[in-house]
Amino acid sequence: MAISLLQLTPVSFPYFIRNSHPKLNSRTSILVHFVKSNPMSSGSDPGPVRRASSAKIFKVPDLETDQVDLIADQSFQRYFLSSSTRRRSGNGVAVVWFRNDLRVLDNEALYKAWVSSESVLPVYCVDPRLFGATHYFGFPKTGGTKMQAVESKCSIRGCIKMPASLGPPPPSIGDWGCIPSTESLGLSSQDVSKGMKFVGGESAALSRVYEYFWKKDLLKKYKETRNGMLGPDYSTKFSPWLASGSVSPRLIHEEVKRYEKERLANDSTYWVLFELIWRDYFRFLSVKYGNALFHLGGPRNVEKRWSQDIKLFESWRDGTTGYPIIDANMKELATTGFMSNRGRQIVCSFLVRDMGIDWRMGAEWFETCLLDYDPCSNYGNWTYGAGVGNDPREDRYFSIPKQAQTYDPEGEYAAYWLPQLQSLPKDKRNFPGKLYIEQIVPLKFGSTATTRNQGRYMASARKGNLGHRGQRR
Ligand SMILES: Cc1cc2nc3c(=O)[nH]c(=O)nc-3n(C[C@H](O)[C@H](O)[C@H](O)COP(=O)(O)OP(=O)(O)OC[C@H]3O[C@@H](n4cnc5c(N)ncnc54)[C@H](O)[C@@H]3O)c2cc1C
Repeated sequence: MAISLLQLTPVSFPYFIRNSHPKLNSRTSILVHFVKSNPMSSGSDPGPVRRASSAKIFKVPDLETDQVDLIADQSFQRYFLSSSTRRRSGNGVAVVWFRNDLRVLDNEALYKAWVSSESVLPVYCVDPRLFGATHYFGFPKTGGTKMQAVESKCSIRGCIKMPASLGPPPPSIGDWGCIPSTESLGLSSQDVSKGMKFVGGESAALSRVYEYFWKKDLLKKYKETRNGMLGPDYSTKFSPWLASGSVSPRLIHEEVKRYEKERLANDSTYWVLFELIWRDYFRFLSVKYGNALFHLGGPRNVEKRWSQDIKLFESWRDGTTGYPIIDANMKELATTGFMSNRGRQIVCSFLVRDMGIDWRMGAEWFETCLLDYDPCSNYGNWTYGAGVGNDPREDRYFSIPKQAQTYDPEGEYAAYWLPQLQSLPKDKRNFPGKLYIEQIVPLKFGSTATTRNQGRYMASARKGNLGHRGQRR
């Protein structure tokens, strides 16, 4: 099953390695090995070209380098083994193969290697398969940017305490290898010109935890803000670092518990952990269903007719569907490699319900673009959204006008990504009619075209036949 593959986008991949914690770099280094294979396929079209814009770029985390180093040092101290409890009893060299646990803190394999050896040799292999094409539709795997049951009773072990230094690496290593450049992997590097720009590496991950929980004190209102779409602070933005393993979910759990003890415990502090349980849930689901997660009929082998209309798909991919909330989200994805959870649910529903397009095309495009791409979470959520997943409700439909009205009432998000809408009155930005490009498909339920239709849609919504997944949480 493909879930064991490390999947990082070119932004995240060399970036996350290069920016890994100085403790790892200066004291141990990572031996980088480039697995040789056939030349990269030439079909790595990076997709929509980014537009330059003077709009503000949000750096995540938004801290100076010296602050990042300081916070990383403090976090390391908190999770270090004290020297009195340090024991090392092994012989020889232990090789640690870093896949996507690209961190030093709470890294069980690294700890066990350290305990059972005289020196540790950390190795990272650059796997060219990550830069090949997606399984069904041949998109570049790496794009140009790049439970209740469990919840109730299980206990979560604490973070593995690491030694302050892993000691010197084995003396015989002459060539430590190097990180291949983006270009040498057949990809053109693209600078984020707008929206959020993630900083890679363990130090940045720890800094984001510090920034979100402690510095900006945003954890206490996460539940109220988490459905936002614009800017860095409506949600944690931990996902890219979780996907590359630059931070462990256990460390986040411990930090939430510390926050609850030192500041306050409320629905919001609980909700971050609840979302992490969804992440676990999709991992367990992948283990249970294996490759079925990637099949058209999904884990439940649902038979449905799907279209692969390329014109429709491209308008979705490029953000030219004529529905501002869809287009804005798709442009954000292509530009930054990120999209909010709300946005992901909306564009997924639009593709599969309103366009009737094969959900795997959407999932593969997400695979190409997402900085936080993770096979379990991505395919788990796509199968769920497409009604072929482990969800008792097959017909979840997100009404586009209702989502726009609820989550972008003033069209701020739409106008940020579609500057041509900025001059419109706020209530028209998501309902611009002829002032925006033509809608490529009518909506299955409700229409944004006229007030009368909006009224009809609202009546329909009141009758309860436009359910959406928001009810889940
Ligand atoms: C169609 C679709 C595809 C998705 N693909 C991915 C993916 O490839 N990788 C990925 O990490 N997430 C994926 N998600 C889940 C979710 O959208 C992102 O985890 C979230 O938007 C990341 O932002 P955040 O870190 O600010 O999340 P927060 O709201 O701050 O949540 C904290 C953490 O909880 C976890 N989490 C939250 N929601 C979910 C969820 N629905 N499923 C699984 N874990 C969740 C993430 O690890 C996240 O970092 C997908 C969702 C949808 C609807």
